[in-house]
Amino acid sequence: MIGDIKFKKKKSLGQNFLHNKSILEFIAKSGGVRDGDYILEIGGGEGALTEYLLREVENRVGARLCVVETDPRLVEVLNNKFASSIESGILEILHMDVMKWGSDKHLMSRGVSGLDYKIIANIPYYITGAIIEKFLSADIKPSSMILMIQKEVADRIVARGDKGSILSMCTKYYGDTEILKVVGKGNFNPPPKVDSAIIKIILNEKNLKDKKYLELEKRYLEIVKSGFAHKRKFLISNLKEYDSATNWEGIFNKNNLDLKVRAESLDKDDFIKLARG
Ligand code: SAM
Repeated sequence: MIGDIKFKKKKSLGQNFLHNKSILEFIAKSGGVRDGDYILEIGGGEGALTEYLLREVENRVGARLCVVETDPRLVEVLNNKFASSIESGILEILHMDVMKWGSDKHLMSRGVSGLDYKIIANIPYYITGAIIEKFLSADIKPSSMILMIQKEVADRIVARGDKGSILSMCTKYYGDTEILKVVGKGNFNPPPKVDSAIIKIILNEKNLKDKKYLELEKRYLEIVKSGFAHKRKFLISNLKEYDSATNWEGIFNKNNLDLKVRAESLDKDDFIKLARG
């Protein structure tokens, strides 16, 4: 543990460290680490979660853990704290900005292929959307993600009914989402301004191994993003702005979609229909 006097936590890097041991254990166990698993932790911090993840990994034959951390001071802490696990080859600490990390290249060089690794992390909140999008849209996708994020963002991701958002629709293209636990701000040091939640994203292996489904990815994501571009406008107006060559009225009618619907009222399957045309 770094003394608070010497170590000034950087707000700009989302350095709110989780200190509740039962929640740390809950996150690590929720990942369901199995024999041979490759686990990625984003933002190792002082290693609070790393310690619990290591317990899971050590109990499984051939499982490995990789931790990415951008703050050099914390990388040093992690390297010292977990020296023996690093030496034994089950732990790797990477000093890196996760947004610059070439996950496909890294994973391939470690013999990890698609839907064959898991992300378990208490991530820096300022890049929540960017992290989720980066890892879900990568060529080598994780099979699941257990993430501590802001509760408000978690609510938006799992929302159903009239509360769709770009993040929820993008995430649902890849799999199912669920809130596992709401975590109060008092469990962190320093406490963030808002409450948090642990979410689980389980990727849909059947869909993501289906070539036809994967071919829709780019079009689906573009339709979702442009559909939500102007919230007050009808979805069809947003879509016409994005792609004026497509007969959107025809596609809406064919799929029994109301021409006056707004993007937030549709679910993933509706957007899939729009992407298929
Ligand atoms: N895992 C620790 C815990 O549970 O207490 C720390 C979590 S803290 C919310 C987020 C961590 O992510 C911090 O250690 C921070 O330095 C790191 N971080 C912030 N931005 C990052 C980035 N772009 N790439 C990698 N790590 C980052």
